[in-house]
Amino acid sequence: MALPCGSARSIACAGLILCSLAGSRADAQTADRSRWEYNSGSIARSRSWIEETEKETHAFVETARNPVFVELFDPARDYTVRLYADKLLLRGGRGSAKRFVKFTRIYRGGWKGNDRRLGWEYERGSFRIDQPAAKSPTWIEKNLDGRQFFSQSKQTGDFVELSDSARDYTVRLYAGELQIRGGNTSVPARFADFTWLYAGHWVTGERRGRLAVFVDTSDAPETAKWAEAAKQLCEIWHPIIFDRLYPGSRAPARTIKMIFKGPSMKGLAFTEASQSKITISADWITKHPDDFGMVIHELTHVVQNYPRSKKSNPFWVVEGMADYVRYYDYEPEKPVPADWKKTYRDGYAIASAFLDWIQRKHNARIIEKLNARLAIGEYTDDLFADYAGAPLEQLWTQFLASERPKTTGKRR
Ligand SMILES: [Zn+2]
Repeated sequence: MALPCGSARSIACAGLILCSLAGSRADAQTADRSRWEYNSGSIARSRSWIEETEKETHAFVETARNPVFVELFDPARDYTVRLYADKLLLRGGRGSAKRFVKFTRIYRGGWKGNDRRLGWEYERGSFRIDQPAAKSPTWIEKNLDGRQFFSQSKQTGDFVELSDSARDYTVRLYAGELQIRGGNTSVPARFADFTWLYAGHWVTGERRGRLAVFVDTSDAPETAKWAEAAKQLCEIWHPIIFDRLYPGSRAPARTIKMIFKGPSMKGLAFTEASQSKITISADWITKHPDDFGMVIHELTHVVQNYPRSKKSNPFWVVEGMADYVRYYDYEPEKPVPADWKKTYRDGYAIASAFLDWIQRKHNARIIEKLNARLAIGEYTDDLFADYAGAPLEQLWTQFLASERPKTTGKRR
């Protein structure tokens, strides 16, 4: 039978295959990130965050949250922890706590907790919780008449009750219907007792289209196990990369094909973005079995899927951004193999280091801003004067002056 795909969503499931694919990984991914588990304990969000292992309990405060990770800080041990969809990185440490100078991969793990009832949809609109962590959360109803604000007044196993004091309405959201009571002189309809108003249903926090990943290893059957791991990686990271490049927008439903090719293939991997198709050399992964970062690079091209035009679609930004997502978002614990004899025009790692520097020094949103222009075919180099405060060549000179290692500039 199909894996659970969330009762609220089962109506929308077109087929069992899509349903089960989206159910297993994507649901964990779209959770609201309030609890994170690993093999020897868990970290859960209360007012702050609590880490519980078999032996110890530690308190953290949340210091950052973005599409890629949630960052926590433990002042007692001077630890900065970053929780990813598939791993934990740790930096710092003082006193008896082990010290890590750089972000270091400590655990595998992932987000937990999906049944949080963060949204409710009906035929005319939707409700979404505003601050799920607050003691009495605010709810916002959006419908054809506009927006209405409620405070949550009660929660039982059957329903969540919301109050709108301005209109004197009390609303109860059930698994299948909306009931309403009250109403003052400001509204046309008044209900003496709880009355059925709409059919509707709960939704998860999910706001993105369904993702399916198919692998084809028929040309290289020996890659089957690796291909399965790459598929899971895509299921976890596709929504993250989408959020990274297009923050706040809804990812389209997408079917990604990953094809593994035998010795006849030239090169290590390439992507046909308009078809969401990634082709990978079996030979390459046999020789580089740890190179999952390459999959993230290709997956970024699938998300980019820019209009085809050499002029508005410069090689260096497209490849620099794909390597940026790979080296700075996906595997920040590893060194970036930037070749300092090259220029940003060569794309890839050196361009990703340049973009990272621009992001740190000039514009924290440079990646999404460039992506937005590329996506509509309106990129030009002149954008950097706007986005980063100086012409591109001038930024490059500044970047080299401040970032190029003094010792490896000549030989490596
Ligand atoms: Zn590429």
